[in-house]
Amino acid sequence: MKVIRTIAELRQEISLKRQSIQSRESVVGLVPTMGFLHEGHASLMHAAKQKSDIVVLSIFVNPIQFGPNEDFDSYPRDEARDVETARAKGVDIVFIPSVEEMYPQPTQTTVSVSRLTDRLCGASRPGHFDGVTTVVSKLFNIVQPQRAFFGMKDAQQVAVIQQMVNDLNMAVEIVPCPIVRESDGLALSSRNVYLSAEQRQEALVLSKALRVAQEAVDAGTALTAADIRGILRQNIERSPMAMIDYAEIQAFPSLEPLADQEKVHGRDDLLIALAVKFGKTRLIDNIRLQKSEVLSHV
Ligand code: AMP
Repeated sequence: MKVIRTIAELRQEISLKRQSIQSRESVVGLVPTMGFLHEGHASLMHAAKQKSDIVVLSIFVNPIQFGPNEDFDSYPRDEARDVETARAKGVDIVFIPSVEEMYPQPTQTTVSVSRLTDRLCGASRPGHFDGVTTVVSKLFNIVQPQRAFFGMKDAQQVAVIQQMVNDLNMAVEIVPCPIVRESDGLALSSRNVYLSAEQRQEALVLSKALRVAQEAVDAGTALTAADIRGILRQNIERSPMAMIDYAEIQAFPSLEPLADQEKVHGRDDLLIALAVKFGKTRLIDNIRLQKSEVLSHV
């Protein structure tokens, strides 16, 4: 496995690796991350390994996707451990550029997706998705992958990136991967290390609320979007520490919100999404309401 820090070297290494592969149709798979790797990231590397000939993992804490009062400086980092994790997962190339390598001058070009980013996380983190789509476009241009792997943990991000790829005719297949959870239901996140033991326990209300909402949908036929929003809030508010940013139900991937009176039953295109703060730590989680057997893992 190669650890590479410059764009020029990365391009050269990918080109060499492509040449060494007999098949002319070699697939480069990209897994973009901000590092501090956990089993969620590992699942993306695993999927990439299965669906690509050359796996590139990028580790870059991207300053332009953080707001001025967000956690860019304190974001957890452990490069040595990440490199070992990547090696163990069979990654071929780890790309770890510096901020100066990615942004040698202040950015004057922004890739921006409009409607999909004005809601949910986009509403509470202005500019966040512009930072994401800009850096992902740069990574696509640098790596030129045929496939790129993203976690459904960040479902809005998946929708936004798919829209960008469609709108700009980018020749890359976006592969969404399921959310990986702790055994008690908490969705894995690099930011979970910020939680105190007590907050970590209280944070279980997120996955619990999703589970209760799913069970209610499975059990009843008359539920409306307002009922779902009520169930979510009621369950999250069981934790006195939880501060709800949003608890929403919308279509996926259009992210069009359901009107309060709209019925939920019989729809298989719905996403329930949560963002909840515990102290300074903002956690997100979601579930897709598809066929009930698909949902039983939460
Ligand atoms: P991050 O390093 O947090 O920017 O995440 C990098 C990629 O890993 C994104 O595509 C995330 O959606 C994905 N990811 C993060 N946490 C999880 C998780 N618990 N399960 C699946 N994918 C995840």
